[in-house]
Amino acid sequence: MIVNKIGREPTYGGKKKQEAFAKQPKGALTLRNFKDELVLVTGGAGFIGSHLVDRLVSEGWRVRVADNLSSGSLNNIRHHMGDPNFEFLEVDLKDPVKAAEAVKNVGTVFHFAANPEVRVSTTNPEVHFNENIVATFNLLEAMRSLDVKNLVFASSSSVYGEPKSIPVEEDAPIKPVSVYGASKASCESLIHAYSSLYGIKSVVLRYANVVGPRLRHGVVYDFILKLLKNPEELEILGDGTQIRSYIYVNDAVDATLIAWNKAPGYFEAYNIGNLDWIGVSEIADVVARVMGISDFRRAYKPMLHGVGWLGDVKKIALDIKKLRTLGWNPRMNSKQAITESAKSILREIETARNVK
Ligand code: NAD
Repeated sequence: MIVNKIGREPTYGGKKKQEAFAKQPKGALTLRNFKDELVLVTGGAGFIGSHLVDRLVSEGWRVRVADNLSSGSLNNIRHHMGDPNFEFLEVDLKDPVKAAEAVKNVGTVFHFAANPEVRVSTTNPEVHFNENIVATFNLLEAMRSLDVKNLVFASSSSVYGEPKSIPVEEDAPIKPVSVYGASKASCESLIHAYSSLYGIKSVVLRYANVVGPRLRHGVVYDFILKLLKNPEELEILGDGTQIRSYIYVNDAVDATLIAWNKAPGYFEAYNIGNLDWIGVSEIADVVARVMGISDFRRAYKPMLHGVGWLGDVKKIALDIKKLRTLGWNPRMNSKQAITESAKSILREIETARNVK
């Protein structure tokens, strides 16, 4: 269903542009010179997707969002409703017919829809199979049948599992230890095959932990909720020594657009992370400081070798030189990214409470 807030017929780019697309040789490497190409952002009502939408719209692209609002929210994209360059489809990509509806007349697909909760893997692995693998397959089939030739895919550092050493490069072994990571690795494999068989130019982006305003999952959000409930004690899943690198969402969006524009081959994978990393205990300190809490007890809940849950990785950080050679650099380090995110998320929670 096309939800059209401004009561007009949906448009898909001018006739001239459509004709220009049609004239492109099969498998043309990029269409970036057509600024008003219609681009699809699946999962565009979610955290990263909505920030990507903001940037694409502000840069003058025609943007369609396809989202089933399972974890995303219309609040993240409401400010675009009524913009003639924006449209929203409430669709579930697990339905192949809806996936084809979403892809129709599109030049590039940014595929960000997924269930991103690694922990869900432990108890409900079929969620990651269906939301991530089945939905991606449906999207690829729709792209194949409608001859859409450009794809940017939100993958994850979790495809590497527990690497032997960090930071890990793109050609390191893909050995996921969670079903979430396995689902992303499976999607990457499907995308590689579709790229090779059908000439879909694909950019696979393996994000580290992305943080920023609108984030509603992961450790920063979890700590904020717990400390709001009880500022005296914080439950920390794991022994607190787990190491990750964090990237601010604006830096992640910059990286996404640079990779989209500059990736040279038909299938390229890029790590998107930071130059540093941070331990979970320090994240607790940073979040508590932002909340004005100076003294709290830490209740560690370690499993196995100190991880927080089955499938959690003890140490992961990404080598980002491949993308840096294309001209991208993160502007915030991990600690700054967490600090700024905690401030924004806290403000958002307080605003929502005041509205009620
Ligand atoms: P999010 O939950 O905020 O966004 C996911 C969006 O996809 C939501 O809006 C949700 O409603 C939508 N969605 C889910 N299943 C769908 C379906 N079947 N059909 C249509 N829409 C569907 O998560 P996010 O953090 O913004 O993550 C975006 C992408 O980046 C995901 O693919 C995630 O796996 C990947 N990723 C995120 C991080 C991170 O740190 N946030 C790290 C690595 C990879």
